[in-house]
Amino acid sequence: MAALLQPQLLLSRNPCRVLSVFTSHIHTSPGLAAKDHYKVLVLGGGSGGIAMAARLKRKVGAENVAIVEPSEMHYYQPIWTLVGAGAKSVASSGRPTAGVIPSGVTWVRSKVAEFDPKNNTVLTDDGEKISYDYLIVALGLELHYEKIKGLPEGFEHPKIGSNYSVKTVEKTWNALKNFKEGNALFTFPNTPIKCAGAPQKIMYLSDAFLRKTGKRSKANIIFNSSLPVLFGVKKYADALWELVKERDLTVNLRHNLIEVRAEQQEAVFENLDKPGETQIFKYDMLHVTPPMGPPAVLKGSSLEDSSGWLDVNKSNLQHNTYANVFGIGDCTNLPTSKTAAAVAAQSAVLDRTVSRVLKKQTPDKAYDGYTSCPLVTGYSKVILAEFDYNLQPLETFPLLDQSKESRIMYHMKADVMPHLYWHGLLKGLWGGPGPYRTMMHLGMK
Ligand SMILES: Cc1cc2nc3c(=O)[nH]c(=O)nc-3n(C[C@H](O)[C@H](O)[C@H](O)COP(=O)(O)OP(=O)(O)OC[C@H]3O[C@@H](n4cnc5c(N)ncnc54)[C@H](O)[C@@H]3O)c2cc1C
Repeated sequence: MAALLQPQLLLSRNPCRVLSVFTSHIHTSPGLAAKDHYKVLVLGGGSGGIAMAARLKRKVGAENVAIVEPSEMHYYQPIWTLVGAGAKSVASSGRPTAGVIPSGVTWVRSKVAEFDPKNNTVLTDDGEKISYDYLIVALGLELHYEKIKGLPEGFEHPKIGSNYSVKTVEKTWNALKNFKEGNALFTFPNTPIKCAGAPQKIMYLSDAFLRKTGKRSKANIIFNSSLPVLFGVKKYADALWELVKERDLTVNLRHNLIEVRAEQQEAVFENLDKPGETQIFKYDMLHVTPPMGPPAVLKGSSLEDSSGWLDVNKSNLQHNTYANVFGIGDCTNLPTSKTAAAVAAQSAVLDRTVSRVLKKQTPDKAYDGYTSCPLVTGYSKVILAEFDYNLQPLETFPLLDQSKESRIMYHMKADVMPHLYWHGLLKGLWGGPGPYRTMMHLGMK
């Protein structure tokens, strides 16, 4: 078996690297040895990284593609909204990373620790230098629970959950199931986040659950958001304000969670419009959406923009300084809502961009910022928001009013989208609904 490994790997300074590269062969390409140079190197094996590796292996050959990814498990995060509400199991959201790495592609089980784009190399946290011709950065974003005083240790107490992490999503369901009476509190932080609808989806689901179990009359349901609006796109925001009124939900805008006192069941918010003013809310259930930020590893590298996100061209996803570096997904500074739906649309554009660059041609395909957010408003209801860079609706279904709650869209979210994710996006076969939208609108959109 050792014959499968190249001599330079056997001489590697790091035994873990030898082991990880060796085991990756078992499920990728038996017979192929890991190399120190790849034509295409993908950083991050989440939604965007796997999708791009699957697409680019068809262009350059699987043996010329590697993915650097430390996690043993890959999660379909959008389903966590339903896990937190007890409608899906957390187990259904994850699959071993080994099973989603496109066959023949090398999996480097490390974290990227440093970039050297001038010399086309990265350094992993176990000290290996890997060089590339083309680099795809798909590192996602980072959750910062620690920026809220009292967290993450507060999660040790019951009554607090967060759908944003696999470690805390089941705590949301426990808190909801065990709710007795008082305030059910939902938060939205003062940073960019992924899936900006998710912090309020769990509120609507909790409202529905409490109604179903006869506890709604004992609950005050409160959404404290840092934002000045309920949702960024007016068409859907108007519909959501109607729901909020109809269901007797309280929305406090410009309220930012700064502290959780888990023992006392108290959450402290600052009023962003009145600096220095804070307000304490008691709770019987608290759902926290944490502050989020760019991957720390980008910091100080020449790949970041002034806010720390990967600096890419918003039209073709090519890095603004390095022509052989590209970005996709949550880690980028693309000015659209960070979702897997956006990743899908971006993957089709980036596929085209890289293909053109490989042929020494100028990128030509333009990303319009397409993103989508299935706003789950009950156990069988969804308002399907789809929009572009200009926050204008960019809808797929011309015969439906997408600002209305729909049962069909709920089944799309709960049953169809997971299949499309595992068997379409991650296989590099799903690039978003753009072509279907054009067809459904008889070529007019
Ligand atoms: C609760 C919740 C609900 C959501 N709902 C929806 C929804 O309804 N619809 C929708 O479209 N989207 C939704 N999303 C958002 C969607 O899941 C993300 O936008 C999408 O997964 C982003 O893909 P990505 O590839 O950019 O990042 P990820 O899929 O997060 O992947 C990033 C990868 O990079 C790896 N990584 C990190 N650091 C390093 C490093 N230093 N070196 C190497 N690898 C590294 C990570 O391990 C990870 O695997 C939701 C997300 C959550 C949490």
